[in-house]
Amino acid sequence: MGEQTKHFMPKALIVGMLAVAIGVAVFLKEGTKEKTASPGDDNGIASGSGTSHTLANAGTDSRPLPKLLDLGSGTCIPCKAMAPILEELKETYAGVFDVQFIDVKDHPEAARQYGIQLIPTQIFFDIAGQERFRHEGFFSREDILATWDQLGVELATVAPPASTETFQRFETASLDERDKESVCYMCDGDIQPQTRTVLKTDKGEVAFCSPHCYFITWSSMVGEKPADADVTVTDWSTGTTAPAASAHYVYGMDPSNRPTIKAFADEAPAEAERAAAGGNRMTWADVQKKEQTTLCGFCDRAVYPEDAGVVKVAGGLSTWGCCPMCSLGVAARLQKDIEVTEKDALTGEAVLIKTLSGHVASLEPAGAVAWAGSRKNEAGDIVSTGCFKQAVFASEDNLKEWVQAHPTATGRMISIEAALAAKMKLTPQQISQACKIGECAPK
Ligand SMILES: [Zn+2]
Ligand SMILES: [Zn+2]
Repeated sequence: MGEQTKHFMPKALIVGMLAVAIGVAVFLKEGTKEKTASPGDDNGIASGSGTSHTLANAGTDSRPLPKLLDLGSGTCIPCKAMAPILEELKETYAGVFDVQFIDVKDHPEAARQYGIQLIPTQIFFDIAGQERFRHEGFFSREDILATWDQLGVELATVAPPASTETFQRFETASLDERDKESVCYMCDGDIQPQTRTVLKTDKGEVAFCSPHCYFITWSSMVGEKPADADVTVTDWSTGTTAPAASAHYVYGMDPSNRPTIKAFADEAPAEAERAAAGGNRMTWADVQKKEQTTLCGFCDRAVYPEDAGVVKVAGGLSTWGCCPMCSLGVAARLQKDIEVTEKDALTGEAVLIKTLSGHVASLEPAGAVAWAGSRKNEAGDIVSTGCFKQAVFASEDNLKEWVQAHPTATGRMISIEAALAAKMKLTPQQISQACKIGECAPK
């Protein structure tokens, strides 16, 4: 290689600098560049034996496909980083675009033919075999898909990866034997006596673990909202019931910075609690307003950012998802590409999902999966068990461990792509109803 580069120092210098920047190797003779080479010209290179191999699904379908040609070698570091991406794309997007790899160490003539200056180089060909775009250096899965998208290649025909429709449980492993009175209508959590909140309805009393869960329900209701007079809270200091509208509140933070709402029938103990533990004194109307400051970007439910998935929307907007499914649903609601950060429900580790045109463009960790909390209704249809029962995991193993630890959880493991697809197929009308009580009720 040194022998070759010696002859053209200026280029070698430039290329050398680039090589430092992006870690690619220089190997090429100058003078035979053919910038608009066509993949049809490579007979005898890609189809030959040796280390060059085609990744395309040749022969099964005569329909011409766009083609991604990667020219690299088995030894350069960015080339090696690209190999698994190319393998996966070849499988996932079979029938959409071809993927081909040429090892230029074994086939220097290909490097000349395509005018390669650095490896790896990716060249995007349209169905007529014309070069439409090329890139030098490592190119991520996301960037490759974005390039196809910009070139007008329809990626939406891709079926979700068929990895994860296997693990499911629609019969609870043990019965939920908790007293209904002590279970929150919204989140299904245990109701602590100090924060019990009750809504009187025509059909009886509905109990919540806190004013927060009441306000989540309130924000999920379509049509007429309940009257404040029908809500009671529990006095933090005495444990007695008090009308919500006339109670005094201390809105504070717990040690993990999550809001807490303490109610008091009288003003003096509320002020004493504020002086002792901190927080802000509020009226019921203040609490209601405060609780509605952050809403889920998909279903409009009240949410605490501390509990929510973070959703960055292309164009700079940022919002929250009250559950992982809602986070993905923001892509459907806004018809934009999004970047979702969720937490593994077992370990808390971050799961990062980027979408492109309604598909998963990248996933970190790559083995992340979703738990679609669901049950079978009387007709045998699978229906959601609500936002509080949805989860993502960094791996299948984490999901299975979590399911084991939650004997009353029902649902199934699905791929992140399938979770996104379920949202992308919703109509605007369905999205406007999403998670509203009656549509996606917790019970
Ligand atoms: Zn609750
Ligand atoms: Zn939501």
